[in-house]
Amino acid sequence: MQTFHIKTWGCQMNYADTEKIRYILCSGGYREVSFRENPDLVILNTCSVRQRAEDKVLGLSHAMRSLKNNNPRARVVLTGCMAQRLVRNGCNEHEDAKYTRSLARRLPWVDLVIPIGDRTGWEVMINESIVPESAGDAQVLYDNCPQERSDRIRANVPISKGCNNFCTYCIVPFTRGREVSRSYTAIFNEVTDLVLRQYRLITLLGQNVNSWRGGKDGCSLSFPDLLRAVDQIDGLYWLSFLTSHPKDFSPELVDVLADGRHISPYVNLPVQSGSDTVLARMNRKYTTRDYRKLAENLRKRVPGVRLCTDIIVGFPGETEMEFNETVSFIKKMQFGMIYLAKYSPRPGTAAFSLPDSIPEEEIERRRRIVEDVQSSIMKKRNSARVGSAVQVLMTGHGRGLTFDLTEITIEGGEDEGKGGHSGEVGSFINVVVTEGSAGGLRGMVAV
Ligand code: SF4
Repeated sequence: MQTFHIKTWGCQMNYADTEKIRYILCSGGYREVSFRENPDLVILNTCSVRQRAEDKVLGLSHAMRSLKNNNPRARVVLTGCMAQRLVRNGCNEHEDAKYTRSLARRLPWVDLVIPIGDRTGWEVMINESIVPESAGDAQVLYDNCPQERSDRIRANVPISKGCNNFCTYCIVPFTRGREVSRSYTAIFNEVTDLVLRQYRLITLLGQNVNSWRGGKDGCSLSFPDLLRAVDQIDGLYWLSFLTSHPKDFSPELVDVLADGRHISPYVNLPVQSGSDTVLARMNRKYTTRDYRKLAENLRKRVPGVRLCTDIIVGFPGETEMEFNETVSFIKKMQFGMIYLAKYSPRPGTAAFSLPDSIPEEEIERRRRIVEDVQSSIMKKRNSARVGSAVQVLMTGHGRGLTFDLTEITIEGGEDEGKGGHSGEVGSFINVVVTEGSAGGLRGMVAV
């Protein structure tokens, strides 16, 4: 039996793709092993969003060469966003073409490039063994391909792929292409099946879930309609969605959240900057005022909502004043969590050719300032929860998630089996919060 190993970088969409690839390979008779077992096939499911993610793949040269020495049958397949860039190589005169040519030169140990979504490519590779060129880019059946999941209680369900927004810093519209929604029936059936199989946390996934469009019985449906329908499925589960674009987060969606039965009050709403001039240069199509109004409405209508965000520091031309606006905005908004990124120039994007890039040490200084500000906000927010009773979904020994998806450690739970007690993975337990810090919560099982 042939063996395989998959390495994955990047966003939840990439992890969902990995689960599909795993399903296709296991159905084709392959067995998954660790890298140390010198697999016959290594799949690199890559990310291009930041240079650092690409550097990690480029740094695998030595490991891949020794694999091929140890197992002469071993082949390396590149997929994900870097693969997308390689198959587009030479398509245009753009910076991107130059960049992808240099990428290709630095990956001579890659045997095959399979674009994202090319189920046929994987099947050709399995049935006819390795072919020394890309197997084409047909997306046949891929969108509804089952996923071989590694987590038995948490599942991501892709509802759309690609993006039409062209934020000026983002490579996604170029690597994942234009937005395509998956059908209502396929999504609904998949969630129903997951609930029956006792998955406890189901996340609807897309680059911009809010612009999902579908239809049922001749009626057109929007994302709030989809979320409301999925929320009506009976069972013991929590429902979440990722990621939202503030310009598409409609009042109807706020209503669905407010009335939800299973919908977690966790909302990830990336603002990216607290400066209107930077937001305009990023092509985000909203202002801080729009964002603040939306957040106020959410907080009013959905009690206990945990509003989290993404921030990029060091966008080209970001002045000290613009950066300070972002810091004040963060203080004002009191986010539950910030996914903080340093601006990373991506060839092929509009921002790549913007003047006035910020020196690396200055970007790092700004990153540390935001990190410190947010850390004290989170400490304050989490400490305020001490003494409260929360329901917890157990995700591991002695650890779990509250309904708003805050991480919590259960006291004594780490010693499960040695006198400690918390709850089985996948169970819901009642907990009293005993401690809150910037990193999360601690609690005790309620008696
Ligand atoms: S909305 Fe903007 S940041 Fe998000 S994937 Fe689309 S282009 Fe990228």
